[in-house]
Amino acid sequence: MTTTINRDNDELRDLYRELILDHARSPRHFGKLHAATHMARGINPLCGDRLQLFLQLDGDQRITEASFEGSGCAISVASASLLTDTIIGMQVPAALEVSSTLTEQLRTGDSGDAESAQLGKLKALFGVHEFPARVKCATLAWHAMNSAIRNSATPATTE
Ligand code: ZN
Repeated sequence: MTTTINRDNDELRDLYRELILDHARSPRHFGKLHAATHMARGINPLCGDRLQLFLQLDGDQRITEASFEGSGCAISVASASLLTDTIIGMQVPAALEVSSTLTEQLRTGDSGDAESAQLGKLKALFGVHEFPARVKCATLAWHAMNSAIRNSATPATTE
């Protein structure tokens, strides 16, 4: 039985790797958002990832549109792309909740609890936990989203 479980895990990993590569090669919602109400820059000096995240919020604190621009490694681009895909249509508190759950799980590597069920395809990012230096690449866009929502003038940094 153990071998079956291992093979399933391998297949899941391959699937997740494909998802990351797909988002890195063809980022969703890439480009400036001219109707943005909130914006923040994110910098990860360790890897050289730089991005700018744009959000459009309506009067009810719902994220109606999101986009990003910038350049960085595959993980940072894929994470930003997955972020925009995930948060469009969400209420701000729900998006912040996803952000803190994901950031915590990437840091601790603990993806086994019920909370992770709500993360959906963001689980594709969990593999980076094995590479601590890359955790900052994966969380950069989420730090930027947090500071965009706070409308902070200071660039978000992973340091
Ligand atoms: Zn990076």
